[in-house]
Amino acid sequence: MGDSYILYDDKFNEECGVFGAINVSNASEVIYYGLHALQHRGQEGCGIVSSDLNEMYKLKGEGLVTEVFNEDNLSNLLGNMAIGHVRYSTNGGGGIENVQPFLFKHHTGDFGLCHNGNIVNSNELRRFLEIQGSIFQSTSDSEIFAHLIKKDNQTNRVEAIKQALNRLEGAFAFLAMTRDKLYIMRDKNSLRPLSIGTLNGGYVVSSETCAFEVVGAKFLRDVLPGEVIIIDEKSNITSDFYAQKTYKNMCAMEYIYFSRPDSDIEGINVHTSRKETGRALARENPVDADIIIWVPDSSVSAALGYSEESKIPAEMGLIKNRYVGRTFITPSQKMREKGVKMKLSPVRSIVNGKRVIVVDDSMVRGTTAKKIIQLLRDAGAKEVHLRIASPPITHPCFYGVDTSTYDELIMARCSINEVKEMIKADSLAYISVEGFLNAMGRSQLCLSCFTGNYPTYIYQDIQEANKDGKF
Ligand code: AMP
Ligand code: SF4
Repeated sequence: MGDSYILYDDKFNEECGVFGAINVSNASEVIYYGLHALQHRGQEGCGIVSSDLNEMYKLKGEGLVTEVFNEDNLSNLLGNMAIGHVRYSTNGGGGIENVQPFLFKHHTGDFGLCHNGNIVNSNELRRFLEIQGSIFQSTSDSEIFAHLIKKDNQTNRVEAIKQALNRLEGAFAFLAMTRDKLYIMRDKNSLRPLSIGTLNGGYVVSSETCAFEVVGAKFLRDVLPGEVIIIDEKSNITSDFYAQKTYKNMCAMEYIYFSRPDSDIEGINVHTSRKETGRALARENPVDADIIIWVPDSSVSAALGYSEESKIPAEMGLIKNRYVGRTFITPSQKMREKGVKMKLSPVRSIVNGKRVIVVDDSMVRGTTAKKIIQLLRDAGAKEVHLRIASPPITHPCFYGVDTSTYDELIMARCSINEVKEMIKADSLAYISVEGFLNAMGRSQLCLSCFTGNYPTYIYQDIQEANKDGKF
């Protein structure tokens, strides 16, 4: 990722997953399986903090869940309550000090904390807290929240948490844990998903419902926008709200790309939503062709929808090498381009001599599209038509999803026709914003990366972007 990335966001994005459990025997083991199901949300590092009501235990490390944890070290994380985190970092990582959960020591009681999302006023808050004497150990937003909670020395813990949450602007799903309580918090715009389930008389909470299936939990409900849920060691559950005005601005990219297809977000299954989007894409942008292929794996559902609607058969025209990381993780453009080639291979016998429609879930920099079209032509495809199951991404995300910067976003700089020429497609079309919303069956979502209408003020980032005259 180039220097321009730093211009808009000089801290690491938090594109992560959280999982918690309370009153569940061997909680850390349950968290292990939960985090494993959320591994797609972050591969850089992971951690677990547990409590046996007397002591709190912590283990975290860089790498995948299966690399950091084993039977031995999990058995040291005692107790029937725990929280865990998988971390994705976009720019060099930030090292172990940014891997969560954090375990804070305080005379009023120790507490663990982890989160998914991105706080847009974190620079302001950090400066404000530093002036008041706080010293930070990491660049994570979680640490800012912890300092805010303890700043006013309030005796009422829930009020302190609510006050701290009110100072935060942006996207977050927080899990906090004291020795005997679990705190579950979601931002008032509900930008990031968070759901609660039940398991053997206890509770689990997860960024995505796909993890419930794995641990054998039953979905109970989604955490509401602005909600603060507290569950104690006797499974008493209370709900409160830190904000009076709340909004349903779930991140559209969770449905489009980020979440697992077997997850349900706010009552809508991710696979089904992608399939409906694919159908709408076919209705809006039909083209004559012999086969439809998908870009593995996040575009399968949209391609199936496109195929059902257009009656053109869906085929497996591209194979993914599972042993290569996501193309986004490699830092330089040159490396990223190589990454695509290592990752995807065309199936020559399927595409040779055919007019091919390629369905992809999104286009960010255009790197994947350009390479795929070249690969397919080299493998004998007669025509290649690209259909994108999300609207053009024209603005960066400030809420924790790595959708890149203005400089790198191809549709922020070029027209559809220019992009078509650049990637050498026979045709290129995107679903419209209206078509997308209709297909989703939702009237409201965060669509800021497509529209530039952000649901919150963006603080420092607007000033930075303005310097470049782009906002
Ligand atoms: P690009 O090659 O830069 O145009 O990226 C587009 C590809 O990246 C698509 O195939 C998407 O499936 C995938 N993608 C979209 N959003 C993200 C994201 N936030 N992180 C990683 N990959 C993504
Ligand atoms: Fe999601 Fe885009 Fe909104 Fe970011 S700007 S939260 S990626 S929809």
